Amino acid sequence: MKARFDNSFAALPDQMFTAMNPAPVGDPTLIIQNDGLAKDIGIQIAVGDLQVFAGNEVPDGAAPLAQLYAGHQFGNWNPQLGDGRAILLGEVLNASGQRHDVQLKGSGRTPYSRGGDGRAWLGPVLREYVVSEAMHALDIPTTRALAAVTTGETVVREGLLPGAILTRVASSHIRVGTFQIYAARGEVDLLQALTDYTIQRHYPEADSPAALLDAVIARQAKLIAKWMGVGFIHGVMNTDNASIAGETIDYGPCAFMDSYDPARVFSSIDQFGRYAYQNQSGIAAWNMAQFATALIPLMPNRDQAIEDFTIAVNRLPALYDAAWREVFGAKLGVSNFTEDDDALAQDLLGLMSKDQADFTNVFANLDTARDQFLDPDAFDDWHRRWSLRRNTDPVNPQIIPRNHQVEAMITAAVGGDFAPFRSLLAAVTDPFTPLTDITAPYAKPPTEDEYVTRTFCGT
Ligand code: AMP
Ligand code: MG
Repeated sequence: MKARFDNSFAALPDQMFTAMNPAPVGDPTLIIQNDGLAKDIGIQIAVGDLQVFAGNEVPDGAAPLAQLYAGHQFGNWNPQLGDGRAILLGEVLNASGQRHDVQLKGSGRTPYSRGGDGRAWLGPVLREYVVSEAMHALDIPTTRALAAVTTGETVVREGLLPGAILTRVASSHIRVGTFQIYAARGEVDLLQALTDYTIQRHYPEADSPAALLDAVIARQAKLIAKWMGVGFIHGVMNTDNASIAGETIDYGPCAFMDSYDPARVFSSIDQFGRYAYQNQSGIAAWNMAQFATALIPLMPNRDQAIEDFTIAVNRLPALYDAAWREVFGAKLGVSNFTEDDDALAQDLLGLMSKDQADFTNVFANLDTARDQFLDPDAFDDWHRRWSLRRNTDPVNPQIIPRNHQVEAMITAAVGGDFAPFRSLLAAVTDPFTPLTDITAPYAKPPTEDEYVTRTFCGT
């Protein structure tokens, strides 16, 4: 692998990470590499880079490390997490000087592994590959997938499963939880160093922690609105999975909705629906409140900071509403969608929810969607209102990675057949093109038998 490594995180105080190499694996095989992404981030992949993607070789210029962080998981404080199954190889610069993290996920134990084995199995690796690349194609900020390999080793989950490693690319892996750990420990110097670093790396226009907070809140608001526009349910919006750069990160139990239900939850561990579809903007605000709390030790006047940061966090709902209107305005072909148009969108969603209509397919076929409703007359009424208001072409994806397709792809891959992985990936990374004979099956909602009700964390 030839790349311009420039490892700025490794130059931070060494309490923030553990410098270490990935743990080697026995008999790796390349499943896929993402040549387009490699080019974008300034990496030249060479023959034999399979060994890099497997963690058996460290590329020239890399400075591998595991990052430390903490986080609130389902609202409960966990004072120490960290990269327990990931190694940051380093940061690469592309021709225009843009910086990207290159990280191996599933690369063995680290000091932060707690009880875990540091490994990943094939299912979550392929799921993350497909879904993160689909998100990118849907124009949603996200970590990306550079490569996937099998390790030739098995991992113990519910039974023995094939081991795999994902090479993940991100603007950075700095999370809300990266800040929280130093705030909680009272390590203000480290918190200050991290804050200065983050501002320089991601928000150079921000001149204070308050400005950083505002900028991160604005990006979270936009990100969640974009998730809502494609029916995406992240499933594990813990503060350690909230990217400061505003990218979607951690494709564990995530899922796209088929039939529309605002209360939809897929994750098997989300018993109380904390991270349900309709709760995501509220959770983003909760996460931003934790971020604000973590920044307070940096402020000269604590009471004033609490007052100011409360106002900043309380701005998120309005920022989110504005972003939501932009997203749903584009979906409905209403270019100047305002508050007065909310009812137009909400009434359609209400009909969809009542009749369990398919979220993606209704929006993708607004002119012909009446058949998708149990009460087509109600839809016709809505359609008449919409026709009077629409002023441009709606823009909607035809294809999202449907859970049943993702599950079928994983089952095939575990059996050694990667063809479904490749065809699903091709379909979901070209979501706006009119359907063809080849892609049409991926636009089909699941039958009752195919329907996936539960998804699982990527461990
Ligand atoms: P996640 O659910 O992916 O956000 O992970 C939460 C925490 O658990 C992170 O610190 C992970 O590094 C850690 N973790 C998850 N799976 C494993 C594993 N198989 N081995 C070690 N640590 C893990
Ligand atoms: Mg995580």
